[in-house]
Amino acid sequence: MSNVSTESRGDADGARDETHSADAAKARRAARHPERPGEKCRAPTGRFRPEVDVRRCEGKGDCVAVCPYDVFEVDRVSDETFRTFSPLAKLKSWAHGRKTASTPNADACRACGLCVVACPERAIRLVQ
Ligand code: SF4
Repeated sequence: MSNVSTESRGDADGARDETHSADAAKARRAARHPERPGEKCRAPTGRFRPEVDVRRCEGKGDCVAVCPYDVFEVDRVSDETFRTFSPLAKLKSWAHGRKTASTPNADACRACGLCVVACPERAIRLVQ
């Protein structure tokens, strides 16, 4: 068992790394992805935020597992949003329990890019 505290892992500028993720193994795989966008957790907060395409998202929670800053939650698609879906999108959403990722802590994003490449539905992009 390591005696290194979680808070001590990271860079001098406060950037966290994959060891802060809920699923460090999954985050390490995402970190090696050749298409990983962003600034490797060195962007100041507020410059980037993740945008979830709720029509693609199936609420599998890989973003929750890899984000070192607890940006995501998996929620239920709101009735208001669900009503805007096409019949096919409604069927897909219903088949996945109407689950979707949301970003209640988007202001904490530092653009590590892990969520973008970890999402199996390619439903997340980083926007400035
Ligand atoms: S890029 Fe994604 S995984 Fe990384 S800090 Fe921002 S929301 Fe979290």
